[in-house]
Amino acid sequence: MALRIVLRMISEIANRQQKYIEPMLSLTVDFYVRLFIRVKEGAKQCHESISKYSQVHQCMDCESHYLHPMGVHCTEEITFDVETGRKKSRRKHQENARKTEDEEAHPDGEEEELKEGESKKIREKYSLPQIKVPHKCTVCDGPLVIGGPIWNREIHDVEFVKRLLESARTNQAGENGHKV
Ligand SMILES: [Zn+2]
Repeated sequence: MALRIVLRMISEIANRQQKYIEPMLSLTVDFYVRLFIRVKEGAKQCHESISKYSQVHQCMDCESHYLHPMGVHCTEEITFDVETGRKKSRRKHQENARKTEDEEAHPDGEEEELKEGESKKIREKYSLPQIKVPHKCTVCDGPLVIGGPIWNREIHDVEFVKRLLESARTNQAGENGHKV
């Protein structure tokens, strides 16, 4: 849990500078953590970060936990109605999103990203999720407490870790016969 709390915090700090993170290897020993992270630039990926954070609802009796994401991915299809001269948007949400699908007409003059001459445009968006976390633990019926927010994605890059282990094995003897 500590690793995921720290990863979420680092991600948020990176996002303020239009950067995002990719955890390579995350370790915890006793009372400290050590994280190996790739930091990359990208405004689009920063926007995506909200879906990588979750609140954690944890059982006080058996430690089962339930994640509540802070944002979910959805797409918005914007179309221009030639007859009425109005723009419409239709949102398609993923599972656990606030709504499954809706359609609404925007009043004339409302700002949209549709360029002149375009009749349709798809936008990637992030939306508030529905609350699907149970009120009690589904395993033992115990009470839940809220923690986080945490990083809800992978905390290791498996391919990177495999290459690291392979490199450690290959270099185990070392040029001078020293153990690494
Ligand atoms: Zn429980």
